[in-house]
Amino acid sequence: MERVYFDHAATTPTRPEVLQAMLPYYTEHWGNPSSLHLEGVAALEGVERARTHLATLLGADSDEIVFTGSGTEADNHALAGVAHALGDKGDHIITSAIEHHAIHDTVEHLGRVGVRATHLPVDEAGLVDPDAVRSAITDRTILVSVMHANNEMGTIEPIAEIGAVCRERGVLFHTDAVQTVGHVPIDVRRMNIDLLSLSAHKLYGPKGVGALFMRDGVTITSYVHGGGQESGRRASTENVAGIVGLGEAARLAGEEMEQETAHTSGLRDQIIGGILGAIPDVLLTGHPTQRLPNSASFCVAGIEGEALLLDLDQEGFAVSTGSACTSGVSEPSHVLLALGLPPDIARSSIRITVGRGNTAEEVDRLLEVFPRIVKRLRDMSAHRPALAERVPHD
Ligand SMILES: *Cc1c(COP(=O)(O)O)cnc(C)c1O
Repeated sequence: MERVYFDHAATTPTRPEVLQAMLPYYTEHWGNPSSLHLEGVAALEGVERARTHLATLLGADSDEIVFTGSGTEADNHALAGVAHALGDKGDHIITSAIEHHAIHDTVEHLGRVGVRATHLPVDEAGLVDPDAVRSAITDRTILVSVMHANNEMGTIEPIAEIGAVCRERGVLFHTDAVQTVGHVPIDVRRMNIDLLSLSAHKLYGPKGVGALFMRDGVTITSYVHGGGQESGRRASTENVAGIVGLGEAARLAGEEMEQETAHTSGLRDQIIGGILGAIPDVLLTGHPTQRLPNSASFCVAGIEGEALLLDLDQEGFAVSTGSACTSGVSEPSHVLLALGLPPDIARSSIRITVGRGNTAEEVDRLLEVFPRIVKRLRDMSAHRPALAERVPHD
């Protein structure tokens, strides 16, 4: 059976052009970019070209880009680096209730060393209110970190407005843009962003490489200590081929963003329309329009998201659910609970994220099997809650 991959928010395939750009940095230019000889210079040129491509995509200067080992590391670096560097100024961080674990768990960790956190709530569409950011800022606040778009339900946050509030109050603003870089236009100046995290494997680059944008003038404590690489901002010999891959992925994404968005949002809307139209008691999670172009996410009342995922896998489709099964009991996602959904509804979540390689015909095939699987799972479960009465409305 031909597989259909609908889980691009988890990871994307490495584009062949990206792999082609990377290969010479294993076979030919394998020098250490810190070395002064010709071999080192060749590797350094690859790294610096990648830095320029990435900076161009973000509207940044190339010396504001620090390569890291992943999106998670960039998130850790931003939060721990600010907490450490500005420890004398304050001890308060503002974040949201829907952050990725890379932020959420880092904030929790910093709590053990005396950093206090405010977790801002979201409305039923998953939006953070910029006025709530303004009200939460105190003279002890050193950082606001709100993600650009949520990986589970796709809502795009009003980052430029939140950035403007932070700028006005003189507080640093970080955003986890792992889901948006290469997919949604970003201009770090216009959006008042001081720090931004990204990851190559979410934009058709390789795994294990990311970057942190640090606005010129923002100095934070290094997270990885050792040699003086990345202008002393991130030690360890660079993942040269990975960085070259990230640069090429960023260059291609910048060139093709409009086309790709038209393609993916068309498929996304086909999925949303098809599923809401064919199946009763299904809720679209996240914002109806202000959402990632590639993301359709639902709660299918009366079933377990994980059961639906496994049945779809059997039928050849790779999708995702927000609930993580630990020891036989599925834990509802903190993101879906933050939308005000009851735990059993949150456990029924399913996420379908499309990519540049998907086709309308693949979506048609999904829409053929999806209602059949849902019906079978619902027939097996004891009862089916009336969804409309149990979820928040405006
Ligand atoms: C995938 C993801 C991360 C983690 O990036 P890695 O490179 O896999 O460590 C962080 N934040 C968000 C929103 C993500 O989707």
